[in-house]
Amino acid sequence: MLAGKWRVDGASGEKFVVVEGVLPAPHTRHGSTYVTFTQDSLVALNDALEMRYPGKQMVGWYHTHPRMGVFLSTYDTWLHEHFFPEPWQVALVIDPHAQEGGFFIRSGDGALDPQRYFGFNELIGAKKGSVVHWENMQPEHSPTAVTGG
Ligand SMILES: [Zn+2]
Repeated sequence: MLAGKWRVDGASGEKFVVVEGVLPAPHTRHGSTYVTFTQDSLVALNDALEMRYPGKQMVGWYHTHPRMGVFLSTYDTWLHEHFFPEPWQVALVIDPHAQEGGFFIRSGDGALDPQRYFGFNELIGAKKGSVVHWENMQPEHSPTAVTGG
């Protein structure tokens, strides 16, 4: 799970999400090509969120697609709609073998395109170097730019 805050840009009125931490999802079962996430997972995550990141929100979730590429499967889309229904909640998919990744976000009308993903801006790491090694995107340092997709 991705912990953070969603905010509104004062100038543009655009919503954006700041990811500040991650929490592992308990009560899941997974194999190389699937993960099952349940209501118990969500309840436990809410408890962990209050403990570890008080005042933060569940801004989304992430999972990997080893050697499968970056997209949302039918099940991923179902999971996102059921457990992360807020318009600002995001899904991050990473293919660790291809070193690719991307964020799936809802458009203004709430639609989620399972093939179209977006990049990000790194708020930390400029000094330390990026912690992201995706080869399909270059981190942008402009506050409004979005790469990838
Ligand atoms: Zn998936």
